[in-house]
Amino acid sequence: MLVLIEVGARKISCGLRVSSFAPDRGKMDDRNLSVLMLTPEAAPFARTGGLGDVTGSLPAALRTRGLKTSVIMPYYRCVRESGVNAPVIVDGLSIPLGVPGLDASVRKAETPDEVDVYFVEREDLYDRPNLYGSPAGDYYDNLERFSFFCHAALKTAIALDLRPDIIHCHDWQASLAAPLLAGPYRNAQSLSKSRCVFTIHNIGYQGVFPAERLSVTGLPKETFFHTEGLEFWGGINLMKGGIVYSDVVTTVSPSYALEIQTPQFGMGLEGVLRKRSGSLKGILNGIDDRIWNPAVDPWIPAAYSRADMDRKIQCKRSLITSSGLECPLNRPVIGIVSRLDRQKGLDLVAEAANSLLELDVALVILGTGDREIQNRLEHTAARTPKRMSFTPAFNDELAHRIIAGSDIFLVPSLYEPCGLTQIYALKYGTVPVVRSVGGLEDTVIDAGDFPERGNGFKFKQHDVPSLLNAVQRAIKAFGQPRKWKKIAITAMDSDFSWNQSAEKYLELYHAMAD
Ligand code: ADP
Repeated sequence: MLVLIEVGARKISCGLRVSSFAPDRGKMDDRNLSVLMLTPEAAPFARTGGLGDVTGSLPAALRTRGLKTSVIMPYYRCVRESGVNAPVIVDGLSIPLGVPGLDASVRKAETPDEVDVYFVEREDLYDRPNLYGSPAGDYYDNLERFSFFCHAALKTAIALDLRPDIIHCHDWQASLAAPLLAGPYRNAQSLSKSRCVFTIHNIGYQGVFPAERLSVTGLPKETFFHTEGLEFWGGINLMKGGIVYSDVVTTVSPSYALEIQTPQFGMGLEGVLRKRSGSLKGILNGIDDRIWNPAVDPWIPAAYSRADMDRKIQCKRSLITSSGLECPLNRPVIGIVSRLDRQKGLDLVAEAANSLLELDVALVILGTGDREIQNRLEHTAARTPKRMSFTPAFNDELAHRIIAGSDIFLVPSLYEPCGLTQIYALKYGTVPVVRSVGGLEDTVIDAGDFPERGNGFKFKQHDVPSLLNAVQRAIKAFGQPRKWKKIAITAMDSDFSWNQSAEKYLELYHAMAD
């Protein structure tokens, strides 16, 4: 429970308190607020998962509500190749990092939603095949890449005199901005009123590096390298820096905000988060229902809405055929679109695949990631090609077609900060079966426990029998068409668009101005 807490003279009326470490940057004008989002990815320019979806759609939702919203991100190779019209607006921006003479260029595009998107360009750092690494592992110089990015983002705000009221940093790659604002940039005139929000999208990725590389960040050791700062088991932890030095910390669901304060989910940062619990808030992610909406989705074979759910069966038929499956329409198709990762519970899926197929269902899986999980899924699919299809790729169109064409959508995560795919599934009337954890807990209501308002099925234990039991309950309901239709319609009626969540961010930003 968040309660109203005062720290010194600074009080936040929605029950969050600002950091006692952050410098007092003066009073913020709470009308005509402007926000600058620092993010390592944003759709449609560069995206590896849910973070990119959110930083692609939240700014537009805020802009619609009158907030001046800008985004700044690296100019990756995929951004250049996307052909986006983004002319250089600043050349030779000097970045004060270790090696003298490091310059950046800044490009600018404007989205149709009137969001300004700035790109930090530096070929040797960002012009690469991927965003963060190759299949062999993370890029060796990610500390340099994202330290440079954070400095360049703040320098851009200064050079363009953006004067953002809120600097909103996303995940460890942008988290260095919080200590930079508290330290080296604290006297920058154009940032003097900026308050800092740090959002944790996944605490499993913290940006941990050896202590001897601290100089790469541009932070003075004596002020920042200690147990109350970025120091973490003898190394540097950039996410810890975001947590400690931001004014407010958010994460992407209320349940995850509580979970990460426990040893089971906090991944070593639970103590730091507990210290900041008065300034920690969970705001559920929203979805962009212009992209994820079965009534207007150009990628699915038949558009449908809750009024003509019968057309969903055309999507199912097409998915079965195009996946080379043989599955009568009165048997359920179970879909999965996911990173192949233990976090997502895909190791459980690999283990449970044979037992799932024995339940007389078809299984359609799309995903990339862990090599061993991929091998196991490939092996099962090769043995049972008429019942199971596995596509090891990142493919937007197929993702939409699976989410529309399946009856049941499986998300058995070990932990789940928010999870977007189960929300997409709800929107498409595809009934989610999920593990009750994090954002899955917050978005799915078990139809067995709550027959009137249930929109899916949940299981608690992270093991194969519990997963199978929940799927069996879903299959049983699928066999009762009236009951199933009610669950599917309830799923479609669940509103997880930005309507509510963007308002919560607005409320937060305004509260920070008080
Ligand atoms: P994550 O933890 O991976 O960010 P989310 O559920 O929050 O999980 O978001 C995942 C996003 O990535 C969704 O938009 C989903 O459709 C997309 N996605 C994941 N894997 C694939 C894939 N193989 N092909 C296409 N889209 C994918």
